[in-house]
Parts: sequence; structure tokens; C-alpha cells
Amino acid sequence: MSRFWSPLVHKLTPYVPGEQPKMTDLIKLNTNESPYGPSPRVLEAIQAADNDTLRLYPDPEALALRTALGARVGLGPEYVFVGNGSDEVLAHAFQAFFAHGAPLLFADVTYSFYHVYCGLYSLPFRTVPLTDDMQVNIADYAGPCSGVVVANPNAPTGIALSLAEVRKLLELQPDRVVLIDEAYVDFGAESAVSLIKEYPNLLVVQTFSKSRALAGLRVGFAFGQPELIEGLVRIKDSFNSYPLDRLAQVGATAAVEDEAWFASSVQKVIASRTALANGLQKLGFDVLPSKANFVYTRHPNRNAAELATQLRERAIIVRHLRGERTAAWLRITVGTDQQCESLLSTLRDILCSNSL
Ligand SMILES: *Cc1c(COP(=O)(O)O)cnc(C)c1O
Repeated sequence: MSRFWSPLVHKLTPYVPGEQPKMTDLIKLNTNESPYGPSPRVLEAIQAADNDTLRLYPDPEALALRTALGARVGLGPEYVFVGNGSDEVLAHAFQAFFAHGAPLLFADVTYSFYHVYCGLYSLPFRTVPLTDDMQVNIADYAGPCSGVVVANPNAPTGIALSLAEVRKLLELQPDRVVLIDEAYVDFGAESAVSLIKEYPNLLVVQTFSKSRALAGLRVGFAFGQPELIEGLVRIKDSFNSYPLDRLAQVGATAAVEDEAWFASSVQKVIASRTALANGLQKLGFDVLPSKANFVYTRHPNRNAAELATQLRERAIIVRHLRGERTAAWLRITVGTDQQCESLLSTLRDILCSNSL
């Protein structure tokens, strides 16, 4: 607390990111990073960047990157917005589209940054409970609101909506922006990008941080009709005209161009996810059906917080979220097969020693 702070600052409840430990010999399964590196072409492109150019500001419109992202899904660059991580894209979208007086709707169990942005921009919101089996029920998103935000697949559950359900949601709220946060969509869910031309109220947000293994480069993007993109650009250019530096722009463009690397690392994660879920079930855990690069799991008679602590003591970190509906669960990032096996054998040891 400080008397120098503006009143709003006192009221903020900032997001708490997952731990980035300094220790290097940990098995890090807590923040849904890729266990594989990005395409080698990314580093090549960054290294090839002309030394002289860092003197100069980057392209404020990131046109080459937006063109590459759009081309991949059959859209022109006017349908694409890029930002410094999808968190920044989400923040701009909240400010650009959701201040209409009525509450913004999002699930009670979802990405916790949505609350944080509502606080930052003083937006009223209403959380919509997931069903008992942790699903988003689209019919619950009817009625007056300033917009809807849905993570698909949802985080931390990993459960995905079908394209038909997303379409239903867009039709329930034709006069409000429906933001689909597709941070994890590449791991097996259906993207709503194919609906962009049909629905002027659809904004699809994606990131390079998960499926493209570039969390450290900070690049996120959105697809929407040009009218929505223009709204985002107006916010961006009133905040920071150069959110993506030159190295991020060339690196991200190179990542988009290496489709083979992307496809193979995503396939490896999907295969490891199946093995991890099976292994956890054999140990007695419940595992939700995940379309993401993590699994959400609980043990019917073990305390999740204690399990997380015991794993930490054995150099494995996973994510445990406090809160009424999440406290029993652990969110575990899908690592390499070897990391998943270490996790499973360590859990086996913990479960055995606890029952002595
Ligand atoms: C990781 C994540 C993001 C943000 O990722 P960036 O690194 O900022 O691009 C957005 N939404 C969800 C649901 C996430 O899990």
C-alpha cells in the first residue's frame, strides 16, 4: 500500500504466474510450456537478423507475421492482430469490446487472468458455473451481457467444446463479442477460425507459447473480422505501437513457416498425454478428458496440495490451484515420455509411502 498509488491500484488483485524456478534439474510440469524446443528455423531467423536493424524501430504493424498467420488459415492480414503474448491480446480485447455496462460472462473455473483484466479495466463480470462434470454448458451463456469469454479447450480442465457448440454460443449472443481463447487448441480441439467470415462477433485468440514452444518470445495473436481487428489496433496504438520487437517478429514468422516441426511436436505431446492419463488412472487418479498439453487430475483420497508439495520435494513441479472447485485437483503439463514416466513412478512412491 502506498499513498502514491492511484485508487485503482489498491484494488487490483494481480495474476500470479506459475513458478519459474532457478533450479535447473527440476522436472517442470507446472506452466504448460512445450518440452520440445521451437523450430530450429526460429533461432536461425533471429540470428540472421541484421545487427544494424536493432537500432531501428520494428514494423508497428508486424505485417509479414500477420500475413503468414492469415495465409495459414485462408485469411488476409486485415483479419489478424498480433500482440506481446496472448495475454496482451486478451487485455486489449477486454478493453476494446467488453465495456458495455452489463456483466462479461466467463466460467467459474477458467483462466484466472479473465478476472484480473476485469479488475484492471473495471468491467463488471458474472462467472458461470461449470457443470458437475466440469463442462461448459453453452445454454448458460444466454441473456444480457457485455460479451462472453470461453477458453477452448478450457484451462485448467483441458475439456474442449465442439465447433457446433461454439456456433451455438455465437448465435446466442449475436450482438456481443464472443472471445474464444484457443491457447491450447492445437493439441486436439477444433478451432473456431473457420467461422470468422460467418460471424462478425467472433474473436479467436491463440498463442505461440504452447504448441509452438515459444513462451519466451512473447507472441500472441487474434483472428476476427476487420472491424474487430481495427478496434484492437486502436487500443494497441493508444498503449504501445511496438509490442512485438524485431526479433519476435522474424522468429514468430519462421515458426509459422515450419509446419512440419509444429505438427510433429504437437503429435508427440498428444501421444504422451494418452500415456500419462492412462498411467495416472492406473494409480487410481481421476483424469478429465484433455485436448490440451496438460491433464487435470485428482486422487479420490489424497490431498492435492500435499501431493504437489511431496512432488516438489522430489524435484517435480506441477500446478495446484486453491479455490473451492479446484483445490482437489492437480494440473500437470504433458512433458516428454521420460518426464511423464518419472512423474508416474514418483507418484507411485508417494502413494505407497503415504499409506504406511
Ligand atoms: C497460457 C495461456 C494464455 C497466455 O499465453 P501467452 O503466453 O500470454 O500467449 C492465454 N490463455 C490461456 C488459457 C492460457 O493458458
